[in-house]
Amino acid sequence: MLTNIRIEELYSAKLISERVDELAKEIADEWPKEITIVGLLRGSFIFAADLVRALNHYGVAIRMDFLTLSSYGNALKSSGQVELKQDMQDAVAGKDILIIDDILETGNTLHAAMELLKARGAKSVKAAVLLEKPDKLEKAVSASWVGFSVPDKFVVGYGLDYKNYYRDLPYIGVLCQD
Ligand code: 5GP
Ligand code: MG
Repeated sequence: MLTNIRIEELYSAKLISERVDELAKEIADEWPKEITIVGLLRGSFIFAADLVRALNHYGVAIRMDFLTLSSYGNALKSSGQVELKQDMQDAVAGKDILIIDDILETGNTLHAAMELLKARGAKSVKAAVLLEKPDKLEKAVSASWVGFSVPDKFVVGYGLDYKNYYRDLPYIGVLCQD
């Protein structure tokens, strides 16, 4: 276990759940009725699980795939280098793709994922992210759907980790080191 760490709650489980439902409704209103979802691991797994069930509620059929990219390692700051750790299972050529990620910070991760899928011939590529840190963007990339804009603090919970801890927190909070 990690010591001398406090988590200050930013978004409660209830608030997250309401926002995920709103996002699913917006996506369902605007998007073709069948989507191939690409969840970026590991951080997006809980958001993706909740979002696809909400999409099902709004009548969207999905197919699910995952891509593991890494830019952080165990650090609190992005290295800027995006590494492909584990590839997808299915081909994306000709498909409408929705990338799901936990948080958009510098944009390096999402940019790399979008370029990869476009290079492989995806028909369209859009993104939904739960969080974004608007002041930190370095790449010309944006998500069509964003849950919350967060302050420039390191956040954990609801899939987001520090050293692979705290992904299981049902809420999102700021990591404070005493
Ligand atoms: P980017 O490539 O946009 O700089 O960063 C995106 C990735 O960095 C996210 O998918 C996430 O894994 C990680 N990341 C960025 N900011 C935070 C943060 O505040 N907390 C955590 N736990 N991960 C973050
Ligand atoms: Mg990530």
